[in-house]
Amino acid sequence: MAEPKPIANEIAASVTGPDDLVQVENLRKHFPVQSGFLASLLNRGHIPAVKAVDGVSFTIRKGEVFGLAGESGSGKSTVGRLILGLLEPTEGRVVFDGTDLGSLSPETMRRLRSRMQVIFQDPLASLNPRMTIGEAISHPVRIHITNQPDEVRRVVIEILNKVGLAPAEQFYDKYPHQISGGQRQRVVIARALVTAPDLVVADEPIAMADVSVRALLLDLMMRLKEELNLTYLFITHDLATAKYVCDRIAIMYLGKMCEVGPLADVYEYSCHPYTRALLEAVPVPDPRHRRKEPMPAGEIPSAINPPPGCHFHPRCPIARENCSVEEPALRELRPGHFVACHYAEELLK
Ligand code: SF4
Repeated sequence: MAEPKPIANEIAASVTGPDDLVQVENLRKHFPVQSGFLASLLNRGHIPAVKAVDGVSFTIRKGEVFGLAGESGSGKSTVGRLILGLLEPTEGRVVFDGTDLGSLSPETMRRLRSRMQVIFQDPLASLNPRMTIGEAISHPVRIHITNQPDEVRRVVIEILNKVGLAPAEQFYDKYPHQISGGQRQRVVIARALVTAPDLVVADEPIAMADVSVRALLLDLMMRLKEELNLTYLFITHDLATAKYVCDRIAIMYLGKMCEVGPLADVYEYSCHPYTRALLEAVPVPDPRHRRKEPMPAGEIPSAINPPPGCHFHPRCPIARENCSVEEPALRELRPGHFVACHYAEELLK
C-alpha cells in the first residue's frame, strides 16, 4: 500500500471539484458561556465557550448522500445548521454552489433558502399544531414559488401525493395530531421538498419514527432523491442506518472530524479507534456474536474544556503518551479516506 499522505487539518477531506455542491472550510462555532461577575473575575475576563464545532472541512458532491455521524454532543447538528445559514460561524466559511454564504445579504440568503431545506427529527415539534397540513406546506410555497391560491393548492397536493399521503385532498385539511407519527414525518419531508431544493439537511430524520415505518421513510427519501435530483446531508448517531443510505461518511467527535471517506472504506477499513467502537456498537442479530474491540470508557467530555492533544485520548483503548500532547492531523490513508489518529496505520493492518 502507498505511504499515507499527511494533509493539514484545515484542508483535509475538502479537496474541491466541479461536482461539489457544498464546500465547508475550517468551520468553527463556539458558543460563549454566560457566567456571573465573580466567575468572570476569576477567569480574568476570559469568556469560556462551548466549542461545538472546532475546525471542520469537507465537501458534499452533487447527488450524493453525505453522512455525518457521532454521539450526542459531537457537533454534527450544529454543522447542519451552519450549512443552512441558521447559525453564523465563529470562523471559517460555507460555500454553496459557488457562493460564499457569509457574503450574502439577508434578502439574498432568504431567497437562496428555497434551495437548501431541512428535515428535523421531531415532526410534532416542527409542525405548528394550529396549522392544517395544507397550510403548513403552503407556507414555503407562498414565500418562494407563488401566491396564487389555486396554484398553491395544486403544488401542495402534488407533493403530498409524491410523499405517499394519498388521497392528498383528505390530508390537506387535517391537523398534525389527527395523523400518525409516520404520516407526520412524511408531511415534514413534503414541506422540505416542495420548493424543489438542491440540498436537504436531514437531521436524524427517522429517529422519532416507529421501527416499523423507519425503512419505509428511508425508502421514500431515497426514491425522492433520484426523482427530484437531491443531495442529502444525512445526520445520524446510528451507523446501521447510515450504512444503507450514505455514499460517504464523516465521523465527528467533540467538534472535530476523526475519520472521513467513502462508506464502504470507512466500514471495512476503519482505522480510528472511535469509529471502530461505534461500528462495534451496532447490534448484530446473532446471540453468539462477541465484540472484537473494547468499548471506549466513560462519557464524551465537556466541549468547554476539551482534553488536550487528541480529544479522544481519555477514552481511547490504545492511547499512548504523546496522544495527550499532540493533536493528530487528518491524513489520507487510502484514496479519499482520511483519519485523524497517530497510530491509524496499526489499526489498518
Ligand atoms: Fe487514540 Fe492516540 Fe489515535 Fe487519539 S491519536 S485515537 S488517543 S491512538
